[in-house]
Amino acid sequence: MDAEILSIGEELLLGETVDTNSAWIARMLSCAGVKARHFQTVGDELAEIKAAFRLAMSRSGLIVATGGLGPTEDDLTREGLCEACGGIEMEYRPEVLRWMSERVGRPMESLAECNKRQAMVPRGAAMFRNEWGTAPGIYLERDGRHIFLLPGVPREMRGLFEKYALPIVREKFARGGERILVKELHCFGIPESDLNQRICECMRRGANPDVGTRVAQGVCSVRMVARGRTEQEAAEAMAQVESRIREALSEYIFGEDSDTLASVCARILLSKGLTVAIAESCTGGLLCGALTAIPGISRSFLEGAVVYSNDAKILRAGVPAGLIAEKGAVSAEVAAAMAEGIRKGLGADIGIGVTGIAGPTGGTPEKPVGLVYFGCSSRIGTETFHRRFPGERDTIRERSVQTALDMLRRAAMRI
Ligand code: ATP
Ligand code: MG
Repeated sequence: MDAEILSIGEELLLGETVDTNSAWIARMLSCAGVKARHFQTVGDELAEIKAAFRLAMSRSGLIVATGGLGPTEDDLTREGLCEACGGIEMEYRPEVLRWMSERVGRPMESLAECNKRQAMVPRGAAMFRNEWGTAPGIYLERDGRHIFLLPGVPREMRGLFEKYALPIVREKFARGGERILVKELHCFGIPESDLNQRICECMRRGANPDVGTRVAQGVCSVRMVARGRTEQEAAEAMAQVESRIREALSEYIFGEDSDTLASVCARILLSKGLTVAIAESCTGGLLCGALTAIPGISRSFLEGAVVYSNDAKILRAGVPAGLIAEKGAVSAEVAAAMAEGIRKGLGADIGIGVTGIAGPTGGTPEKPVGLVYFGCSSRIGTETFHRRFPGERDTIRERSVQTALDMLRRAAMRI
């Protein structure tokens, strides 16, 4: 059974709001083994909304619509659905007003007239209480179609989807009691094409588990969707392919599912009781930002310095002035000196140095834009390497952060 996602709101058509809801819902559905085949985006016009529902109902068994459930005149999703269904009536549902009054802590009578519109819902629909806002979620089964209406506000939408819609989707759409397991393995440092080549025998169409790959921020992820008549059968299919993939990609795999390079770094550092200090230049604090986003990292993260200027590299990270003059601020030697210098400051177990040219200006034929040097110092010694990242300033900086985190992760595993 295919799914369709409908995003409703004029602001989406104007490009003022990026439609993150659709992507998030599609991802959640795919984790439940349901594929979203169609996306539609429409404005706040009743006729457009009606036509969108009509089209969706003509081809999709599961329809998830977001937006247009608010109290104002331009929130017409409920009406649009009623019309698309050939004129279902709206009915007054007092519980909606009760939920609202409890939420805002005011008596029902004092609620604005426009809020009362939100209590008018398609006859026969089920309602989901919204703990994150006022507009309730709505679920309607019609001609074998399962239709969910959720608010546009991402936080509310996600809360309602996870709590109410997903369990229904899992129950109704799991084919004949089939069990579905989904797992992702995340790799860093290998191009997607190489990765695909290594695991192509696991990626045949129609195989169980279904194996696919995706890339985001330099992280290449392998996604496995296993099916079985029982949980155990699905788990066995998953385990077999997972072990083959792990074997083929072992040196690149850093984590699974919700793991990120930063969270894995933090986990290793904390579990081994290791401390780290960072001197970063072209990443301007992003590397420290990524690490300190992880709760609990204060036991490992001692210090971070943004040593942007030469003077800062000398003063804060103890880089010898002569070295910068001789080798240049963007060099393996300076990256190493930054890592060693910052490590010694507070006696950290690991010191990290990052220096490069993020562009778009500042590149030379010998040292082009995108060239970044990485240094890592520990009691085992100091190592450096460089990368030449393609792309624009933001991409280069982001890729530098990921590469530095991977370097830190590997160092923390070794010592
Ligand atoms: P309410 O009006 O009660 O807040 P609603 O269901 O009417 O809820 P909208 O008015 O359509 O929702 O949108 C509310 C907010 O959610 C807006 O700030 C909008 O930018 C954001 N939003 C709406 N649709 C999407 C979407 N598809 N992706 C990301 N954000 C969205
Ligand atoms: Mg609205």
